[in-house]
Amino acid sequence: MTTRTLSSSSLCILLAITLSSSILLHGQAASSQPKFSVHWEELTASDFREGIHRSQGVCLLPFGIIEKHGPHLPLGTDLLDVRYAALHAADKEYAVVFPEYYFGQIAEAKHEPGTMAYSRGLQLALLQETTDEMARNGCKKILIVNGHGGNDSLLPYFAQTQLDKPHDYVVYVFNERSPDHGGPQKKTKIDMHAGESETSKMMIAHPELVHPDRATSESGADQARQKISEDIYTGIWWYTRFPFHYSGEGAAATKELGEYQMNWWIDSIVKAIQQVKADDVSPKLQKEFYEKSTHPLDTQPQ
Ligand SMILES: [Zn+2]
Repeated sequence: MTTRTLSSSSLCILLAITLSSSILLHGQAASSQPKFSVHWEELTASDFREGIHRSQGVCLLPFGIIEKHGPHLPLGTDLLDVRYAALHAADKEYAVVFPEYYFGQIAEAKHEPGTMAYSRGLQLALLQETTDEMARNGCKKILIVNGHGGNDSLLPYFAQTQLDKPHDYVVYVFNERSPDHGGPQKKTKIDMHAGESETSKMMIAHPELVHPDRATSESGADQARQKISEDIYTGIWWYTRFPFHYSGEGAAATKELGEYQMNWWIDSIVKAIQQVKADDVSPKLQKEFYEKSTHPLDTQPQ
């Protein structure tokens, strides 16, 4: 009898504890609801459907590279920086962000350790299949956010050649990484790779991967060894000027400059996402163009 009484009252206490803790847990879950992820790979299949709906079909493809970045920055600097900027931008203006992508043009760094340089044909084929697959999954507007200067010719070319044959999606390229002016005064003039700006931004994105003490162990000065005028282009130009794959002075970097430039970059991507969302002209005229291009002789001026 005593035992029974005890056990039923324990049961009551247990129930009360269970009930109150479940209320508490429920309350906590409601107040600290996890943010709806912008990461493609973190969404469940059904959440992905909701993500595409929220983003109005706008998906970001942050494009990095794996290459030497002076003596003091990690090989993945461009990938890490562009993902930091794109993910923060998508948090502010919702867009689904594609996973790590770094299969771009980097032939000019093949002489340095750790560089991943895919062949020309594969770069284009892989990018096409990637955007095709993104579009098949509802990304009807794909904004490639470029984090690597060596892609400056590749990406506009890729976008131009989307006119080759009909696609039910539009490729946009956002190719800015640093502001022209404003913010803390810069100390260096040459600053094209792993220099003042890039090192400063990395101090914001991944400070634990920056080694400022090593920044002066190699020269990032312009060697100016090519004696032809700048209006004649050759692929070896970069090596003639910056053979150590370093352009500028990483030692001049500061967190203040990094904060200014990174915020500028994030805000610029936010504005780009907003413009792409609002753009109903490109999809419409691209469709019209594809249709007309099947019978050019019938196309008349209006
Ligand atoms: Zn870089």
